[in-house]
Amino acid sequence: MPSAEPATGPGRDFGPSRLELSRGDLTGQHVDAIVNAANSSLMGGGGVDGAIHRAGGPAILEECRRIVAATGPLPAGEAVITVGGRLPARHVIHTVGPRWRGGNHGEPQTLARCYRSSLALAAEKGLSSVAFPSISTGAYGYPVEEAAVVAVGAVADVLQAGSPLRLVRFVLFSESDFDAYRRALAGGPADRRPDRI
Ligand code: ADP
Repeated sequence: MPSAEPATGPGRDFGPSRLELSRGDLTGQHVDAIVNAANSSLMGGGGVDGAIHRAGGPAILEECRRIVAATGPLPAGEAVITVGGRLPARHVIHTVGPRWRGGNHGEPQTLARCYRSSLALAAEKGLSSVAFPSISTGAYGYPVEEAAVVAVGAVADVLQAGSPLRLVRFVLFSESDFDAYRRALAGGPADRRPDRI
């Protein structure tokens, strides 16, 4: 049994794997790992990053410190994993999204890589359920409508190709973000589909 709650929102099945959308707070998710929209320093910040460290306690930051001391700042598009501290999720996967610079600086590719790296790490660690926030659409300024198409497309591609993950859930903080992801799941505009990235 995956340590996940029952389906709560719209979704799509890929064989035994489910991609699902829900509204709420990422930090309360009962999944194997939640994904942090971190910055390269891994030293915490605002937005979802701050919320994760507040809810999870100091164990997460301690491990982040060790990682940065050993391997340096985390480049955008890559992911690392730590304990979940006091969170219901056992692990936190930290990834660094692209800062929006107009869209012609590789932002879609980097954003897609955040989702792929996080899912690859989760699979490598034998996890079966993962919850994501909407990476880069807060402080990093990525327009949510476009980010949603990239995010949903990247996750769908991974699950479509066959993954040991059984549940990937997007947890959207606002109604308007949720609607953007719902539209992306229903099939975004053809010229912005992720297969063109
Ligand atoms: P970034 O720096 O990658 O843009 P932010 O944390 O600023 O990351 O924002 C990413 C998204 O996470 C935003 O849509 C923001 O509303 C959302 N967010 C903030 N707190 C939470 C939370 N506790 N649970 C889920 N999403 C959250």
